[in-house]
Amino acid sequence: MKLKLRTKLSITHGIITLATIGIIVLLSSLLMDKQLIKFVNDNNQRKMDSIVHDIAHQYHGEWNIKKIKETSLRALEDGLVISIIDHSGTVVYDTETISQKKAEELLKSIHRNMREHFRYWTGELVTKRISLQHEEEIIGELMITYYGPFYFTERDSSFINSLHDVLNITRVVSLICALILGLIIARQISIPITKSIQVTKEIAKGNLKERVHVKSDMVEIKELSDSVNLLARTLEEQEGIRKRIVADVSHELRTPLSAIQINMEALVDGVLQPTPTRLEGIYKEILRVNRLVGELTKLAKYESRLEKMNVGKFNLNKIIESIVTTFESEVHKKNLSIIVKGKIEEIFGDEDKLSQAIVNILSNSVKYSREYGSIVIETIEQEKHFVIKIKDEGIGIPPEDLPYIFERFYRVDKSRNKATGGSGIGLTITKEVIEALGGTITVHSSLGEGTETVIILPKQY
Ligand code: ADP
Repeated sequence: MKLKLRTKLSITHGIITLATIGIIVLLSSLLMDKQLIKFVNDNNQRKMDSIVHDIAHQYHGEWNIKKIKETSLRALEDGLVISIIDHSGTVVYDTETISQKKAEELLKSIHRNMREHFRYWTGELVTKRISLQHEEEIIGELMITYYGPFYFTERDSSFINSLHDVLNITRVVSLICALILGLIIARQISIPITKSIQVTKEIAKGNLKERVHVKSDMVEIKELSDSVNLLARTLEEQEGIRKRIVADVSHELRTPLSAIQINMEALVDGVLQPTPTRLEGIYKEILRVNRLVGELTKLAKYESRLEKMNVGKFNLNKIIESIVTTFESEVHKKNLSIIVKGKIEEIFGDEDKLSQAIVNILSNSVKYSREYGSIVIETIEQEKHFVIKIKDEGIGIPPEDLPYIFERFYRVDKSRNKATGGSGIGLTITKEVIEALGGTITVHSSLGEGTETVIILPKQY
């Protein structure tokens, strides 16, 4: 049977509370009864001692029946029936004869009370014989009859009953408090979870603007709602990028294709003459489309990871030097200077792929460098990593664009790329390559000052 979290938590909490209170009730009853019996027995013993003392002290050569009667009535209140026999064996006083009705009633009420309180009480009347002394002379014997092994007087019973009432009220109140607290906690847990479920369902339907708004001091609940919100935000951003990519690709393809279409129609209709300049213009547009499609294919290839890794040892700095030479003409055109620092002669990995990554980064640095700028490429060997840093003094990347530069087709500024001919794929491929080699790539940039790209590769590939 599937239960709601709130129901399940409430039931579990209720069971635990009931079990705990049950155990407390059982233990407290056992302990309390034991302590009460001990307390009552000690008390009765004290009362008996006091009776013996009073009876012995009223004797001054002869028995003072008035005082004995007073003591016997007090003893009766405490559940003790006394009788006195003098040294000759004559009965001096007997409560059962003198206050017969009262004694019978009292013993009956003790019997009733005890059976009520202790269902298994099997008390019986016992008689204790104590010899009475006056000035070290035996003057007689006192017989005290009472219920053994223990009994409670009317006063004891009412005290015990009120004690039980207090305990019962405490149990009921604590049970109610625990259940209310359990319900509150269950609510505090289940409400944010239910809200998170609703939000994820809305996200699945495409409502990416939905967010979980819950206040909770529980770490896991807070993390859950934060994660759902992060998921929604990321999906929303991705959705934006996707829309931008579709718009970019269609725009990039539509412009050269329409130009080709218009020119070709005019040529077919004979409106225009197929002059070499015109044909060359059309050819250039076709080349643009071809380049874009080529890059898309390349990207798909990398992303599906169809290309196998071709690993081996190679000299990193030598490779970098040879890559730099391929940029000679652009470097010359812009009067740039490229400095290569470091000396890593042996690195294990896929030479072609790493070269491609460095080419992409260096090509951006060259593209976005201003005239007379300088580019520094530095290789550093660390204990467990190889680090490659490529730093330029170019136009930089605005901070708001920085998080997206690795997204495919993402270009900082369309007009900036129109001039440089970028398509926003270079860094996507670079990142794919570096990650396939087990490394990481980060870009730090400040607008107008330059950009630094850092590649960290593990030594153990
Ligand atoms: P592209 O092929 O268009 O250059 P990339 O993926 O290589 O695309 O780069 C993405 C964007 O990042 C580019 O639009 C470019 O504006 C910016 N960018 C990359 N590297 C640099 C750099 N070194 N300096 C300035 N901008 C850069």
